[in-house]
Amino acid sequence: MDFLQPSTWDEALAARAAHPGAVPIAGGTDVMVELNFDRRRPPALLDLTRVTPLTEWGTDGDLLRVGSGVPYRRIIEELGDRLPGLAMAARTVGSPQIRNRGTVGGNLGSASPAGDAHPPLLAAGAEVELASVRGVRRVPVREFFTGPKRSVLAPDELIAAVWVRPSAGAGEQFAKIGTRNAMVIAVCSFALALDPARRTVGTGIGSAAPTPLRATAAEEFLAGALDWDSRGAVPPDVAAEFGRLVASAAAPIDDVRGTAAYRRHALSVLARRTLTWAWGGLP
Ligand SMILES: Cc1cc2nc3c(=O)[nH]c(=O)nc-3n(C[C@H](O)[C@H](O)[C@H](O)COP(=O)(O)OP(=O)(O)OC[C@H]3O[C@@H](n4cnc5c(N)ncnc54)[C@H](O)[C@@H]3O)c2cc1C
Repeated sequence: MDFLQPSTWDEALAARAAHPGAVPIAGGTDVMVELNFDRRRPPALLDLTRVTPLTEWGTDGDLLRVGSGVPYRRIIEELGDRLPGLAMAARTVGSPQIRNRGTVGGNLGSASPAGDAHPPLLAAGAEVELASVRGVRRVPVREFFTGPKRSVLAPDELIAAVWVRPSAGAGEQFAKIGTRNAMVIAVCSFALALDPARRTVGTGIGSAAPTPLRATAAEEFLAGALDWDSRGAVPPDVAAEFGRLVASAAAPIDDVRGTAAYRRHALSVLARRTLTWAWGGLP
């Protein structure tokens, strides 16, 4: 197996174009498991860890651009105040070792329906920046996933970054159900982003459909039903209907981690809970 080790972004893109069979590797927390279990035997690995710009983040206008190689630990430590929903999800990923190595770009690259970064990115309306020697394009996260472990990423493309609006007083929450409290793949997960300035609601559902997805009918209902002016307590019937609409947006299956019926029920509970937390936490 060849090991390609570019040290600049241009070299990485050129290597990706010249070796479409090479598997990109960032933190390696998914790739190395696949290699160790012999599920994958690629002709080459394309190591991205020396491409420094992938590990940087910064602001551009009113958006944050977070390099695909920024690990979860740094999302929590450096961006927890600006991207609270993503940071909450990052805190639930694996163990300290996995959070130290694993990246949001790698989560997107794996495109697992259970990837924990996906629901908060969906809720925040983030975009994925994809690049190749042909150029750069930005794809909304809601259009990125095409099936279980499949995405719109072309064979010659790499994930450069995610673009996301910092929360700036928005209420963001993430909740995940697992069979234990740590080192667990989500049975289902849910992210919510309430933006009082725009009066919008964003949602993201994980591990309850072939791809991570938004609950658009629930978003529209809640944006119209919340009393954004008085910010009084959320009426129980509004919370219940929001939970029902979130559950009905999912398309879960029965598997070793849980049944479809349990996942739908749990999602309605997570939706109501995160709504109470996020609404109560608005400034
Ligand atoms: C013990 C353990 C616990 C875990 N717990 C969780 C968990 O709780 N929640 C969770 O969501 N995940 C979990 N994971 C899975 C994994 O840690 C995450 O998916 C992580 O985000 C992967 O990031 P990485 O940088 O390690 O990716 P890598 O393993 O390096 O790559 C993953 C995939 O993305 C591709 N890729 C990486 N970077 C790029 C790029 N820039 N452009 C294009 N493609 C790219 C790779 O080719 C590969 O297909 C766990 C894994 C382990 C081993």
